[in-house]
Amino acid sequence: MTEHASQLPEPPRPEPPLEHRPYWDGLREHRLVLQRCARCGKLRHYPRPLCDACYSMDVEWSEVEARGTLHSWTVTHHPFHPGFKRQVPYCTVTVDLAEGVRLQAPLRDASAAALEPGMAVTIDYEDIDAELTLPCVRLVGRA
Ligand SMILES: [Zn+2]
Repeated sequence: MTEHASQLPEPPRPEPPLEHRPYWDGLREHRLVLQRCARCGKLRHYPRPLCDACYSMDVEWSEVEARGTLHSWTVTHHPFHPGFKRQVPYCTVTVDLAEGVRLQAPLRDASAAALEPGMAVTIDYEDIDAELTLPCVRLVGRA
């Protein structure tokens, strides 16, 4: 049976817990806001309750520069959810942010064949609707 694109479900939406709101609110404002340990200052991403350096649960949030370098990438040919069938194949990259943590997001406006480790990238923002903005990655000079 052939599936028509109009019959496919939408991609699943992130359902972040309340304590992750500053990250998602930052994306809505087109700012990259990451979690930082309020005790020792170590930045961490993805958001989580415990600092892996000093084990403190004290948290603050900091806006960081939305740029970094390409660490690695993968191309998905088989969707893990039917909502992504319209997008395959797509490339997801891991970025070493300038501030020392990694972030994963889809690559935009470039082919995986053009990628090399260490390439300069920027984090950009895609407004999905009025409530949800997702990060994406663009090669510097091609945004
Ligand atoms: Zn800490």
